[in-house]
Amino acid sequence: MTHSLFHAANCYGRFLAGMMLINVVSTANAQIAKSTLADTIGFAKDLRWIETKLGPLKACDQLKAIEVQYYSFADPAYTQVDTKTLYSGILIVHACVVADVQAIFDGLRRDTFPIAKVIPINRYGLNADTTGWDDMASMADNNTSAFNYRSKSVSTDPSKHAMGLAIDFNPLFNPMMRREGGNTTVLPAAGRYEKGRSGTLTHANILKHLERRGWSWGGRWPKPQDYQHIEKSHGRCMHFDFKSK
Ligand SMILES: [Zn+2]
Repeated sequence: MTHSLFHAANCYGRFLAGMMLINVVSTANAQIAKSTLADTIGFAKDLRWIETKLGPLKACDQLKAIEVQYYSFADPAYTQVDTKTLYSGILIVHACVVADVQAIFDGLRRDTFPIAKVIPINRYGLNADTTGWDDMASMADNNTSAFNYRSKSVSTDPSKHAMGLAIDFNPLFNPMMRREGGNTTVLPAAGRYEKGRSGTLTHANILKHLERRGWSWGGRWPKPQDYQHIEKSHGRCMHFDFKSK
């Protein structure tokens, strides 16, 4: 069971307050919520501000708030993986990729791949110029998120995040790196990519969960290398013919 963020006929319509689990894991482990549906309160109001800058969001009635479950870290410095506690959080994605996203999280959970936190992007507030929610703040907080109505960080093209078709994981361990001239821009600025560190995406630990579902990893892109980013890039659904970058 998933939740529409907006009434189908009106983006700013009813906001569903109830919460049902889409993916209940049978486990003796303790479970702690790092975010809940209540964290999306204010989402529709924020979106109205963003739309005054970016225009109407086409996919607004196709977004779903889903609960994902994951392992995380035992310490604030993110050095120890905690395999005794399951955490849960709300991820906002396109309706057509809900099953893919749950399967990807199932795979990462089976691998005890740690995720720092999953908090809806609206909790980080809007950009200063209201052209999206504050992705810089979310990345700096090492937050894993999906939907954000914003352009790409490197151009004004709409991002796949604006359709709920992309997810960024553990940005501090998986920064976006853009080399231009002799300079490298690293986002978030405090991000470092070190292959051996827990929570870092690599060919070996992420591609097996992506490729057969038509997803790809930004760590393979030549420019920018976007290690935190995965997106739906192949196949089609009733709304999209997915194209790779
Ligand atoms: Zn991304």
